[in-house]
Amino acid sequence: MSTLDLAGRSALITGASRGIGAVIARTLAARGASIAVNYAPGTEGAAAVVAEIEESGGVAVALEADVSRPDECSNLVSSTVQHLGGLDILVNNAGIARDGLVVRMSDEDWDAVLRVNLTGAFFATRAAAKVMMKARRGSIVNIASVVGLVGNAGQANYASAKAGLIGLTKSVAKELASRSVRVNAVAPGFIETDMTASLPDKVRESALSQIALGTFGTPSDVAAAVAFLASDDARYVTGQVLAVDGGMTFV
Ligand code: NAP
Repeated sequence: MSTLDLAGRSALITGASRGIGAVIARTLAARGASIAVNYAPGTEGAAAVVAEIEESGGVAVALEADVSRPDECSNLVSSTVQHLGGLDILVNNAGIARDGLVVRMSDEDWDAVLRVNLTGAFFATRAAAKVMMKARRGSIVNIASVVGLVGNAGQANYASAKAGLIGLTKSVAKELASRSVRVNAVAPGFIETDMTASLPDKVRESALSQIALGTFGTPSDVAAAVAFLASDDARYVTGQVLAVDGGMTFV
C-alpha cells in the first residue's frame, strides 16, 4: 500500500485474530493507523497479527475481550484509548454463525448469534461513540453481510443479526452525524475464510453461480472497502451499506 492516508489514526478491530478481521487490521496498519487487535478469550492468532504489523514498522496491540459482554467492551475501548492515545476508527467485525433451518433452530443458537453479531456491535459502538463524540471525529464501520439484505435459508439467526446491524448503522449514523462521526456498513458476499471453508461443495457451487463476477471474494476485497470508509476519502459518506459481493445481489 503506497498511501498513508490513515497516519495518526487509532483503530480498533473486533475479532481480528484471524479471517477478515486480521486482514482489515493489517490493511489499516499499512495505511498508517495504529491498531488494537481485539481477540476473544482463549483465542490464538492476535499475537501473530500484532507481530506482523510491528515487523512492517507499524504500531499494534492485542486486547482480549468477548464482545458479547458489555463490561468487556467498555474496558476494550478504554484500553484502546490508553494504549493508542485515542480511538478514531471502530470496525465491528467479530461474528459467528450457527446455521440451521428455523424449525430446528435452538434458542441457544438464536441467542448466541444475535448476542455476538448484533448486541456485541451495539456494546462496542456505545462505548466508542462516547470517545468519538467528545473528539468530534470518528468512523465506525460495521461488517454486515448481503444475507442481512436478501435473507438466506438456514441462516435466520445470522441474517436477522446482520439486518439488525444495518438498522443499527443507519440509526447511529443519524445520531452521531452532528459530531462529525460517520457510521457505515460493509456487506460482504461470499468471502474465502474459515467461516465459508467448511461449507459443502454443493452450497459453494450454488453460491458461485449467483456471483456476476464469477469468483469468490477475498478478505482483502472487504478490507479495501473498510479502509475507504474509514478514511477522509469518505468524509461525505455516512449511513451507507456498501456491498462487496462480486455482483451477487445488485438490483
Ligand atoms: P471468522 O474467520 O470465523 O472470524 C471471526 C472472528 O470473530 C474470529 O477472530 C473470532 O474469534 C471472532 N469472534 C467470534 N466471537 C467473538 C467474540 N464474542 N468476541 C470477540 N471476537 C469474537 O469469520 P470471517 O469470515 O473472517 O468473518 C468476519 C466478519 O465478516 C463476521 O462478522 C462475518 O459475519 C462477516 N462476513 C463474513 C463473510 C464470509 O463470507 N466469510 C460474508 C459476510 C460477512 P475466534 O478465533 O475466537 O473464533
